Amino acid sequence: MAEPVSKKRKTDENTDPKTNQKRAVDAGLWFEDGNIILVAQHTPFKVHRGLLSHKSEVFKDIFTLPPPEKLSGDDIMDGIPTIQMSDNWQDLSDVLSALYNGQGSFGFRKKLHFRTVSALLRLGNKYGLVDLEQEAIARLQRLFPSDLQDFQNGYTESDYERENMHLFCSTSRIRLRSSDAIAAVNLARAYNIPSILPAAFYICSRLPVELLVQGVSTPKGTSPNILSRVDLIRCWNGQIELGRRYGLKMQAMSNAIAQRPACTGSWHCQELKKTWEAEDDRDTDCQDALGCCLVGSQWVTTDDEELCAACHSRRVLLWDDFRQSTWDDLPKIFDVENNM
Ligand SMILES: [Zn+2]
Repeated sequence: MAEPVSKKRKTDENTDPKTNQKRAVDAGLWFEDGNIILVAQHTPFKVHRGLLSHKSEVFKDIFTLPPPEKLSGDDIMDGIPTIQMSDNWQDLSDVLSALYNGQGSFGFRKKLHFRTVSALLRLGNKYGLVDLEQEAIARLQRLFPSDLQDFQNGYTESDYERENMHLFCSTSRIRLRSSDAIAAVNLARAYNIPSILPAAFYICSRLPVELLVQGVSTPKGTSPNILSRVDLIRCWNGQIELGRRYGLKMQAMSNAIAQRPACTGSWHCQELKKTWEAEDDRDTDCQDALGCCLVGSQWVTTDDEELCAACHSRRVLLWDDFRQSTWDDLPKIFDVENNM
C-alpha cells in the first residue's frame, strides 16, 4: 500500500471536494471509465489501474487491494476503490499526465517548468518509472552542463542580472528561476547526479544571501528548499574564491596594457591603464559581481575602444583564458571534485 497521508499534518491544503475534482478534470485526469481513484492532498484522480500497473511495478503492488465489496468508508468513492497517496497533488498530476499523454504529446520537446522536471525525477524514481526519471536527469544535465559553451548557450543575457530572480533559460528545455539551482543541488545529492553540481553551485553562488539562508518556498505540503549546512559553506567559500580570482584577473588585465614593444597607442593606452588601475583599487563590487566571471569578452571590446589593437587582443585573450579556467575549476572552487 502507498504510504498514507498523515491525518495529523497541518497544512493549508484545499479540502473542497468539488474544487479538487475540477483540478483533475482540468488536467485531463478524471476518466469516467477509470477504475481507481488516487487522492493526493485531497485531490482525487480517477485513472486506470491496468495502465499504471503496466508502467510501474510499484503501482502494481499498491493496487493489490481487497475486492470493492470488502472496502468501505475512506477506501471507496462512488463505488471506486480509493488510495490515499503521500505525494503533493501537483507532482502527482504532472507524473500522471506524462504517463497518459506519452513523451510526444506531454511535450518533452517543449520547455517544462523546473518544478515539473523535479516531480518527474522524484516520483519517477519513487514509482520505478525509469523513462520519466531518465528524461528528467537528461534535462537537468542540459541545464547545468559540464561544458562552458553549452552553459553560455543555455542562458539569455538577462540571466546575468542578479536582480531578476525569475530568469528563464532561452534554449534549455526547462523554465528556470535562478533560485531553482538550490533545488538542483539537492536533487543532485539525493539522486546521484554529480555532473550538475558545479554549474548549479555557480548559479547558487550568485543568489542573495537571504535567499540562500532562508531557502525557497515549495508547493504546499512540502518543506522549503534549502542547501544543507555543508553545501551552504561550499557555496560561500566558492563565492569568495570567485571574487578573489576576479580581482586578480582585473589587475592582470590592467597590467597587460601599454606593454612595450607590442603597444603602439602609447598615450591612450597609458591613460586608460591609470584609470582602470584606480577603478580596480576601489572595486568592492567584484565579490558580488560573479556573473562577470562567465560573461564573454564582448564587454572588453566595448571598454577597449581607445586602446591600440595589440593591447586589446592581449586583454581579450586574458579574459577568454580566465573564463575557461574559472569554469574548468568550478568543481575545485565549490569542493565537489570528489563527487564527480
Ligand atoms: Zn596599447
